[in-house]
Amino acid sequence: MEVNEGGGSHPPASKKRSRPADEGGVGVGSGPSGCGDDRDAYLPYCKPGYKRLYPEGSTNTDFKVYVESTNNDRLGNKSPIYLNHIFAMDVKGVTGIQRVNANKIAVIFKQYNTANNFINNTTFLTKYNMKAFIPAAQIDKTGIIRFVPANISNKELYRRLSSIYEIVAIRRFSKKVGQERIPLQTVSITFLSNVLPNNVQYDLFSYRVFEYIPPLLQCYRCFKFNHSAKVCNGKQRCSICGGEHLYKECDKPTEISCINCSGPHLAISRLCPIKAKKIIEKKNNISYASVAFTKQVTTNEKDFPPLPSPKSQPVNSNVSVNKSVNISANKSVQDVNKVKIVHSKDLKSQIISDNDVLMALVQTLVELANKDDSTPTNLKTIKDALIKNLT
Ligand SMILES: [Zn+2]
Ligand SMILES: [Zn+2]
Ligand SMILES: [Zn+2]
Repeated sequence: MEVNEGGGSHPPASKKRSRPADEGGVGVGSGPSGCGDDRDAYLPYCKPGYKRLYPEGSTNTDFKVYVESTNNDRLGNKSPIYLNHIFAMDVKGVTGIQRVNANKIAVIFKQYNTANNFINNTTFLTKYNMKAFIPAAQIDKTGIIRFVPANISNKELYRRLSSIYEIVAIRRFSKKVGQERIPLQTVSITFLSNVLPNNVQYDLFSYRVFEYIPPLLQCYRCFKFNHSAKVCNGKQRCSICGGEHLYKECDKPTEISCINCSGPHLAISRLCPIKAKKIIEKKNNISYASVAFTKQVTTNEKDFPPLPSPKSQPVNSNVSVNKSVNISANKSVQDVNKVKIVHSKDLKSQIISDNDVLMALVQTLVELANKDDSTPTNLKTIKDALIKNLT
């Protein structure tokens, strides 16, 4: 489906597009589009217990938390006097409040830990019937892989896939045929990182990771773009004739006129030139943004991920990976280069002078070279062996 919001106030689209198996598709954790569990092979699968929190030592300049009401109260339309009052009184570390849309506000914190504390402040959230979550784009990034056999469950994929960034959610795209959802061979993967890895490994097999471009959002109420019916301020329009009524009540079903371009097609049709233009704009925007971002971090990405000191936490907590990504995302390229030079010199001399780390690396290489062939060698097994030797 190309339209994200439910509502049933339009005729079925003639051409359906696939999407990951939940609304919105990209959010995980405590956000509104959360994960299911493993009851069903094709339900979105999340890292057990994963909750989106800002990683320790994040270097953002501010830390945003989205807040929505749990009882359909339109929080974005609440009086600033009320919002200022409750947040100033009951929440620590708030430096600003912004309206995101009719249902949602963004609460800004200066420190990652006060933002995280607020997410976990169930007393406040229950008292005011609110739910809080960190916007997906702040913490994680979703990509897609293709040609994944449909008989592999999401849980199995989660278990077997490995990457340089931690995987926190797997969703399989599906297509609705009649009442049934047919799993497709495209799978979306959410990484705990601001950038996508080039590849993920399924044992020895390497899948290329592509940018995930969410479908264009079209409102089911007014049929304009980039907002949902839930937050629509427009009037109910007919997707057939464009009049101010539901399509089911249309008295001119043969006089088809698109609300956006007045052309002879339904308002939801992909034949609409305005809709086609919006889809292209969306694709271009995303790819420009990702090119700019990738350019900025390239220097850092090629580095070997920072090694933990022998006594620190295992690297698979991903705190170290995130730190480097955050540094690059927030500094100019020049700064990043400086950091990189100092960092890599430091790292090299540290490794050479640290006999424990050096021996752990050598030991891992020896183990890999002498390993029998019955178990696979991939990023995960190598990483596990290295961590085992380092700790
Ligand atoms: Zn609307
Ligand atoms: Zn009508
Ligand atoms: Zn049109």
